[in-house]
Amino acid sequence: MSFQDLGLIKPLLSSLYDQGYKNPTPIQKGSIQTVLAGHDLMATAQTGTGKTAAFTLPIIQKLTTAPKERRGKLRALILTPTRELAGQIQESVRKYGKNTQLRSFAVFGGVKIGPQIKVLKNGIDILVATPGRLLDLHQQRAVDLRDIEVFVLDEADRMLDMGFIPDVKRIREKLPEKKQTLMFSATFSGNIRELAETMLNDPELVDVAPRNSTAKSVSQTVIPVEKARKLELLKVIAADNQHIQALVFTKTKHGANKVAKSLNKAGIRADAIHGNKSQAHRNRALKQFKSGELAILVATDIASRGLDINQLPLVINFELPHVAEDYVHRIGRTGRAGNDGHALSLVSHDEAKLLHAIEKLSNQNIDREEIEGFEPVNQLPFRKERKPQREGTGQGDRSKGSKRRRPSRNRRSNQNRSNQSRSNQKSAGPRRRKAA
Ligand code: AMP
Repeated sequence: MSFQDLGLIKPLLSSLYDQGYKNPTPIQKGSIQTVLAGHDLMATAQTGTGKTAAFTLPIIQKLTTAPKERRGKLRALILTPTRELAGQIQESVRKYGKNTQLRSFAVFGGVKIGPQIKVLKNGIDILVATPGRLLDLHQQRAVDLRDIEVFVLDEADRMLDMGFIPDVKRIREKLPEKKQTLMFSATFSGNIRELAETMLNDPELVDVAPRNSTAKSVSQTVIPVEKARKLELLKVIAADNQHIQALVFTKTKHGANKVAKSLNKAGIRADAIHGNKSQAHRNRALKQFKSGELAILVATDIASRGLDINQLPLVINFELPHVAEDYVHRIGRTGRAGNDGHALSLVSHDEAKLLHAIEKLSNQNIDREEIEGFEPVNQLPFRKERKPQREGTGQGDRSKGSKRRRPSRNRRSNQNRSNQSRSNQKSAGPRRRKAA
């Protein structure tokens, strides 16, 4: 099925062609016609599946082909949980709608409200917003929501996690009764189902993401390591992957700063984004990362949410997330739209429980690979219910048949290997051995 078969109009087909998109992704195939036909939609899809185009394309088409008297009013509202995502969705609307007359704009907190009020006064057709700022703007009578025809609730699961649902409901009360509502969520938990029931009217269901599955195009590896040596190992991995960019996840804002600072000291261009950084800083760091100026972007879960960085090849979990679902979201930053991606998780012994929760949720056993010179003192235990993959593979017993990749160079004592890894950071990559 082509974009043409989906009934998209020429101005859209031509911008898709310019983007280099050849065929619609499954979520696009499942959603575009439904939205064009005016139905409500509940779609389960992770970021990286092409879901932004799945709703922006039909919205643009509906608004451009509407009767003249409807034009020039704010007719589509897209609510999204983070500032970054709001900016990126607006960028997509601009890209796909470049051959139309539609005006779009994104509003979010963390920046001055005055300039946003000014732009809104000039009139726009499509507004992308985070809930808090939209309510502020509405209170200041800077935005009129009475002509909204299409209402999109993006990343509904994250809205829920971040406590935004009361705000979303307040916003919804300000919209006209008759409208089309589209809801997107990475998961379809009981809470999301309940929310869908209250917000959607006889929706079509599209499910392209098997729940909590991790994208097949992402290869995943766990690297067991002592907690105290993670930073050192990260520098070795970063130096080894100098030609590619990586998004590194930490659990805390402080941790993100520390990692970025340490990488910079080691001569690796890195910056951190998290909730304590100003919006200007976050925008700048994201721009520099996208342009390749930064090799590494260190982020916390919330700051990274929805980041759309084309063809990001590598995600590194410096620390595992407390919530297993966040692992799925984190690694969804790579392996997007058909590209291969890799996710490395540096896991210390105290994180074994978190790792097992992730493996259980995503119904997989992630390969372990030890890095020469960074082998932990105690091996990372496998999940209890894990079936032994071959005879003699003892739980947590490295000596009993766990697969080892022999390094091609002379094997040395741990200490020597570690020194070598440090001194050869630029020229030789870390050598891995499979532990599972
Ligand atoms: P999203 O899931 O909306 O965050 O999109 C993920 C990435 O896929 C973005 O970089 C899009 O530009 C890209 N993309 C969306 N649709 C297509 C398509 N049909 N073909 C190729 N790439 C696409």
